[in-house]
Formats: sequence, C-alpha cells, structure tokens
Amino acid sequence: MKKKISLKWKIGRYLLLFAFLVIGMIWILQMFLLQPMYESSKVRALTDTAEHISSALSAEGEDLADVIYSESMGNDTCVRIFSSDIDMIAGNSGCALYHMSSREINQNTKNALENDGTWLSRSGTSDPRGRSQQIRNITYTKILEVEDERVVLMVNTGITPLNATTDTLRKQLYLISAFIIVSLLFLTLLLNKTITKPLSAITAETKHLPEGEFRADESNSKYLEAQLLNEALQQAAVDIRQADQAKKDLIANVSHDLRTPLTMITGYGEMMRDLPGENTGENLQVIIDESKRLTCLVNDLLDLSKLQAGKIVLEKEVFDLAVLIREEMKKYEVYETREQFEFECVLTEGLKVYADPNRIAQVFNNFMSNAINYSSDSRRIIIRAEKTSEGIRTSVRDFGEGIEKDKLADIWDRYYKVDRRHVRPVSGSGIGLSIVKEILDLHGASYGVESEKDKGSTFWFILPPESTSAE
Ligand code: ADP
Repeated sequence: MKKKISLKWKIGRYLLLFAFLVIGMIWILQMFLLQPMYESSKVRALTDTAEHISSALSAEGEDLADVIYSESMGNDTCVRIFSSDIDMIAGNSGCALYHMSSREINQNTKNALENDGTWLSRSGTSDPRGRSQQIRNITYTKILEVEDERVVLMVNTGITPLNATTDTLRKQLYLISAFIIVSLLFLTLLLNKTITKPLSAITAETKHLPEGEFRADESNSKYLEAQLLNEALQQAAVDIRQADQAKKDLIANVSHDLRTPLTMITGYGEMMRDLPGENTGENLQVIIDESKRLTCLVNDLLDLSKLQAGKIVLEKEVFDLAVLIREEMKKYEVYETREQFEFECVLTEGLKVYADPNRIAQVFNNFMSNAINYSSDSRRIIIRAEKTSEGIRTSVRDFGEGIEKDKLADIWDRYYKVDRRHVRPVSGSGIGLSIVKEILDLHGASYGVESEKDKGSTFWFILPPESTSAE
C-alpha cells in the first residue's frame, strides 16, 4: 500500500494553501482591482446625479437649484447645464467644468448625440500647484429634451490617483502575509500537538492489543474522537482477553468431555476382556452409550465450526411446528418415566412455518436438554408453541436454577458457561446456545431468554409465519 502522508503535514499543507489563497485574493483586490472599483463607483455617482437632475428638470415645480446643490454636495460632483437661455454651473470651484473649453464642450455634446444621448469622457489635467502628479477627472454628458428644447447636462467628478494608497497597502500586505504564514506554522505545530500526537501515542499502544492489553492514557483523550478511539480499543482488548479465555475454557471443557467417555470405554473394555463374567450386554451398552456421547460432542463442534464458516446451507420447507415438537417430545418420555420429569405441552394447531426442520429440531432439543440439565429439583417444564403478532413463537420454560441478570447476555457466546463446573455428565461444553444462535440468525428469527436466579428460565424463538417467509 502506498505510504500515506502524516496528518501533521496534511493539515499544514491545507492551512498553507488556504493562507495563500486568502493572501492572493487580498493582493489581487488591493493591487489590481482597487483603482477600477474606485472609478466605477465614481461613474455610478455621476450617472445617479445626472439621473436625479434630469428628473428635476422635467418635473414642474421642483426647485432645480436646490436639487443641483444637494446632488453635487452629496456625490462630490459638479454640475453644468446649458440650453439656449441658461448656462448654469454648481459645485466645487476647482472642478474641470469651470475651465472646460468650448471646443471640449462641443466635442462631448457631439459624442453624446451620436451615442444615444449620453457620453462618458475621462481627462487628465495638471495639478494647479505644479506637481508632476496628474489629477484625472470624469465627465458625464447627457442630452435632454425639456419643453421641446435641447438641454445639455454635464456632471464631473475628480479621480484621485491611488498610487500612494496602494504603496501603503502593499507594505501592509507584506507584513500581513508574513504574520499569516508565521501564525500558520505555529497553528500547524499546535494542531500536531493536540491532534496527531495523541493518535500516534494510541497507535503505539495498540502493539499490545494481540495480547489483550491496551493501556488508555488519559493524556491521549484530549478530544472526543481520541477518547472514543481509546475506549473502542480498550473494549477490543477486553474482548480479545475474553475470547482467549473462552478458547482456553473450550480446550479444557472439550478435553474433559472427551476424556470422561474415553475413560469409561477403555475401563469397561478392559474389564470385559480381563474379568470372566463381565462380558455382559449391560457393560457393552455402557460402551455404546459413551461412544454415542463422544459422537454427539464431536458433531456439535463440527456443526459450530461449519455454521461459523458459513458452510451450512439451510434446507427449508413448509412444515407444521406443532407436529415437529410433538414428534421430538417422544424422545423425552423416558425422562417422565425414569426421572419424574413433568412436561406440559401447550401447542396451537396449524403453526405452519418455512424453515429447515432438522435445524429447528436441533434448536428445540438444545432448549429442552438445557431445561432438563438446569432444572434442579423442580422437574416441571412447560413447552409452548403459538401464533403471535410477530410470528410463530416457541418457548421452553423451566423452574430451575435460572441465570443471573448480568450473565444473560453472555450465554449465547461461544463456549460460555455460567458455572464453569460441569453440572451433569450429559451437559455440553457451552457451545449448545452458540449453535442455536447461529441457526436462528440464519433463519432471520428473533430469540431470547427471560430468567430469574433460582426461579427458572424461559428460552424462546419466533419464526416468521410461512406466508411471509416462503420464497
Ligand atoms: P452447555 O452445553 O454448557 O449447556 P449452552 O451453550 O447450551 O452450553 O449454555 C450456555 C450456558 O447457559 C450454560 O452453561 C448455562 O450456564 C446457561 N444455561 C443455558 N440454559 C439454561 C437454563 N435453562 N437454565 C439455567 N442456565 C442455563
């Protein structure tokens, strides 16, 4: 993978780019656009003045002298009006209109006539104090028809050269640019300290994550994202430790579960070989039963690994869940006769579902064997299957030892056993419910448990009814 640039330099680069853009924009505005913008505002003042005076000329009853005076003062312009009977001038006495030659006036009038009645002319005059500087001015000429008579309106304003101003601005801009760039360097260093340093420190700390260790240093949680990262990694370390412990437990449990039947098989086999009269059908049955237990355990382990690897494909079909449960319950009759268990089946008719019957039977049998294994002295178990608003709900309720609230979420985990001691010889290695979880997840079913310590547990799952789940 291409090596990525560090966050520190990335932030620095963007900030520098931003600064160059801002400084560049200020430079362009001040150095190149100041004069044109100033001129265009002056032209606007001229045309506004001319517009207002033209309206005053056309409107009867308006005091023309007042309008001219207020317009020329307000917009820093001077105004001259010619017609056959008037030649009126108002405004700053230094204004170019006072000195304008008749040749110039005629030229402007002619240009305006040829150009839809208005003309804008720029001219430069020498500074009256004899300095070399040129003071430019703009004259706006407008031809009007007032009471069938031609009136020439001229408005003029001076344009001060901005050379001195731009010189001052340039010097200021050098200072501002230097200030911005130095500030940016400091800002980059500051951001590096507050953003990148904690991230680098957290990354360094993740080295110990594979061993399930992560020391979250408070000083690295200076901002929310770093704090969340710290917390997420801390949680990951706890999860890794738990998974590691669960694996160790599995090995211990599985070895124990494998050893017990193997010891029995070997012991009984040797006894039958060595002791005359021990070669009985009863002893042989013990060997067969233990071998079956071994097969079950190995099958469970294979099943779980296949389910987790996604190698199991469901063989779905439409079937009646009540019929399946009734069929499965036959297996447990022996518990009623030999161990005084009391099974109460409440099954509604017509519980059609679209699912894998073998896998659903596996789930049901797991709930049943757990209910039997953990039912302590109370040997009553209630099995229910009914239609609810969410789907077909199956539950197995026992009145045995129950599960503590804080352990409820963990029992679906791989290899988890509330009590690490083996409860009954037939109990598994803590993988039964993880197989159930995988199967029900594959079916898209919802499932859960309600339990109270020493009062018993209800394990349930809900399958969608056949009409909604059939493909
Ligand atoms: P196991 O093979 O150990 O029974 P499971 O995955 O089936 O493994 O169950 C996980 C753990 O959940 C069990 O070890 C037990 O502590 C708890 N558990 C499951 N069912 C019940 C139940 N009906 N009553 C009390 N505890 C239960």
